[in-house]
Amino acid sequence: SHGDEYSSASSVKNPTIKFTKLFINGEFVDSVSGKTFETIDPRTGEVIARIAEGDKEDIDFAVKAARHAFDHGPWPRLSGSERGRIMMKFADLLEEHAEELAALDTIDAGKLFSVGKAVDIPHAISCLRYYAGAADKVHGKVLKMSRELHGYTLLEPIGVVGHIIPWNFPTVLLFVKVSPALAAGCTMVVKPAEQTPLSALYYAHLAKLAGIPDGVLNVVTGFGPTAGAAVSSHMDIDAVSFTGSPEVGRKVMQAAAESNLKVVSLELGGKSPLIIFDDADLDMAAELAILGILFNKGEACVASSRVYVQEGIYDELVKKLVEKAKAWVVGDPFDPKVQQGPQVDRKQFERILSYIEHGKREGATLLTGGKPMAQNGYYIEPTIFADVKEEMLIAKDEIFGPVMALAKLKTIEEAIKKANSTRYGLAAGIVTKDLNVANTVSRSVRAGTIWINCYFAFDIDCPFGGYKMSGFGRDYGLEALHKYLQVKSVVTPLYNTPW
Ligand code: ADP
Repeated sequence: SHGDEYSSASSVKNPTIKFTKLFINGEFVDSVSGKTFETIDPRTGEVIARIAEGDKEDIDFAVKAARHAFDHGPWPRLSGSERGRIMMKFADLLEEHAEELAALDTIDAGKLFSVGKAVDIPHAISCLRYYAGAADKVHGKVLKMSRELHGYTLLEPIGVVGHIIPWNFPTVLLFVKVSPALAAGCTMVVKPAEQTPLSALYYAHLAKLAGIPDGVLNVVTGFGPTAGAAVSSHMDIDAVSFTGSPEVGRKVMQAAAESNLKVVSLELGGKSPLIIFDDADLDMAAELAILGILFNKGEACVASSRVYVQEGIYDELVKKLVEKAKAWVVGDPFDPKVQQGPQVDRKQFERILSYIEHGKREGATLLTGGKPMAQNGYYIEPTIFADVKEEMLIAKDEIFGPVMALAKLKTIEEAIKKANSTRYGLAAGIVTKDLNVANTVSRSVRAGTIWINCYFAFDIDCPFGGYKMSGFGRDYGLEALHKYLQVKSVVTPLYNTPW
């Protein structure tokens, strides 16, 4: 029964905070300045712990360690299978500590404990194992030159990598970046989000236990404009991989351009459309639309924040959506009955509420929700707006909260046009039984991932990334491995040909 599960989880609900310092060159250390910052529990607004506040000087130390580990250490020189073996060990350690790790993300980010344990942590483990298995299968090719030359390519690790991580998926997004970089033989500096530093420091500890050599994986906690900016502008970081807001993505790219032209990959926001056609299975469509916007409290870059419904089923579907939103359980993310925890922090909470006010003022029809919940903490009611026009702010901006924007449509052409009427292009969903409609719309919508009769259908083997202002570069799949590899061409004459 739910009650038993909840009470047996109560020891887990107050995890001891074991790691609060920066992890540089295999050791936990204070920041150079000695400064710390508070990490807050969004269920209450109370301080969980004080965390070392890294800044430029700490990033410098971390990069020095990573550079030394890259130039002189064993990691890039190990065989792929040896790196893979150590990564497998790292994955096993995550498995051993799954509950504790899920609990850290729950108190730090307000994420559902049950989902963390069943989805996020296992996903991170699979990610490590997937790239561990790929580590000994990285090779170049023999070239078919057009002259009397023998040529081949070598794939080499790109060097020292900076990973800048957001707060909405502190575990998954860390491993989505760290795993392929480790497999490639890179060394790295991870800058977790200031809202959610706890699990990243724990992962640093587990990496050391697994046998990842000192200096290979460094974690510097701290703020974006200081520690984050020091990563993107560092002269000795070879590549930076960023997931976060478009505003910050632009700054990261600018800093990279103005410093050493490091390789950049950006996974930014979205305003992803979910298009539901007249022939859709209504229950499935309602389920997907609700999950698409409410999963992880709407704090998902792929959230289906624009829902377009064809006119024949509009009224019936909207009724189902409102029923489901009203029945959606918001509350303590440790409670297994709860479907939505608090937003990550006060800033996001207020930002979402201000978008809701905008929606009301702009003339969209508020069908349900629209307010903070009565209890303490950063909880917001599942909110649905109908009659949302393209020019409204709530149709254009990424809200990053539990706020759905609904609109009615007539034709397939209109569906395609509306789906594409955004500066973003991260994901799109299509619900229909008609294969021709599904195929036509899939090919016409400019987005990196198209989900047909499903949503949030992530898989480690499935490349993920943006079109347009949702960024560039791909996480997941073997594509992601190539973000962390350089291609070197080696050429030599055949026979006695000169050049
Ligand atoms: P959000 O706005 O959703 O909080 P951000 O894009 O601001 O997301 O944050 C994502 C990550 O980028 C965090 O780790 C944050 O510290 C970092 N960050 C924020 N500002 C900068 C910056 N100017 N340069 C580099 N990183 C930054």
